[in-house]
Amino acid sequence: MLTIKTGSCSLLLIIFGVLISSAQAPQQNKQIVIAATTVLDGKGGVLRNTCIVVEGSRIVRIDPNAAPVNYDLRGLTVLPGWIDAHVHITWSFGPDGKNAGVGGTTPYANHAAAANAWVTLMAGFTTVQSVGSPNDLPLRDAIARGSLPGPRILTSAEPLIGRGEQNHTPDEIRAFIRKQKEAGADLIKIFAAGSVRRPQLLLSQEQLNAACGEAKKLGLRTLVHAYKGAVRAAVLAGCTQVEHGPLATDDDLRLMVQKGVWLDPQAGLVMENYLINKDKFAGTPGYPEEVFAMIKEIIPAYHDFFKQALKIPGLKIVFGSDALAGSHGRNAEEFIMRVRDDGADPMAAMVSANAAGAEALGLGNQIGSIASGFEADIIALDGDPLKDITAVRRVVFVMKGGVVYKNVR
Ligand SMILES: [Zn+2]
Repeated sequence: MLTIKTGSCSLLLIIFGVLISSAQAPQQNKQIVIAATTVLDGKGGVLRNTCIVVEGSRIVRIDPNAAPVNYDLRGLTVLPGWIDAHVHITWSFGPDGKNAGVGGTTPYANHAAAANAWVTLMAGFTTVQSVGSPNDLPLRDAIARGSLPGPRILTSAEPLIGRGEQNHTPDEIRAFIRKQKEAGADLIKIFAAGSVRRPQLLLSQEQLNAACGEAKKLGLRTLVHAYKGAVRAAVLAGCTQVEHGPLATDDDLRLMVQKGVWLDPQAGLVMENYLINKDKFAGTPGYPEEVFAMIKEIIPAYHDFFKQALKIPGLKIVFGSDALAGSHGRNAEEFIMRVRDDGADPMAAMVSANAAGAEALGLGNQIGSIASGFEADIIALDGDPLKDITAVRRVVFVMKGGVVYKNVR
């Protein structure tokens, strides 16, 4: 009896799985033609009055004469789906409305994580890099299989957290890095420093060298949470990308240019989010009541650092919102803060989440550009972000890998 039940149940699951995945898989031979008056190509160029032709999951050509038109996006701004280099996709509020962190594995937490993925995709982010929880792995895989809608996810699995005196030896650190690779990590996240208020190094130079060196050997990129002196230490250790970065000097940033290290600074969303959701964070682990006055005080340090970074010629700045509970789906607010508050060039801000963001992920020849051969990750905004950056809030069309998830013009 049990066997029959199990048998028919798995049969049902298989049928259900096929239905779901065919609903979210692009039709291989069918051609989709998208007409547009303005296309930002993702690399800083603008195409006018043309059509994007999609077959399967990819863009096959740009052709002003393509017909018949399936999606008429004329009058909108069409661009590649955005890439967010730094989110915490499973970080949610719990059933009591309070901060529940990234580690929940209850059915509630799993649904909350899936909801985070959905709102992120609806906000125009077709790829995200999630840094700091092994719970990302099953969500990443479910989305990749087509059984859940969401952005393409790259994840670090478990991060390496520097603990000062209690750190492991370089050999143990190398073993930890290998363990993440075996668990399926796409990259390694490393916490090498405290915060703006306590920026001290939490890993020695030797330990950082071991972590980033081992990751490089395994073909994994390394994203290092760093402030002040930890920025230079990460660069010297051959790590790939610096997260946050305030209190680094111009010299540190120029060394990043020399070594080709990416910078992922935050202008404001992450700190603003703590303040507007204060009642949900206050009193939960890591967020004592008194921390909120300090958060308010350090916000200018983030803006000042962002402006400092903009002045360094050749510095490769990527878009990372640090989205967590309360800011999933609001990732694009970070664009507004960068452009409106800190004077970033709006085209550069778009490119940081398109071609440059893709290059930082090692996916520069697959996503982040509207050109033949690239994944058909295409979004449209009601408005022109180059003239009015708040247009990034008005995402009216989302295609990921040739599948349309939103079309609400
Ligand atoms: Zn983060």
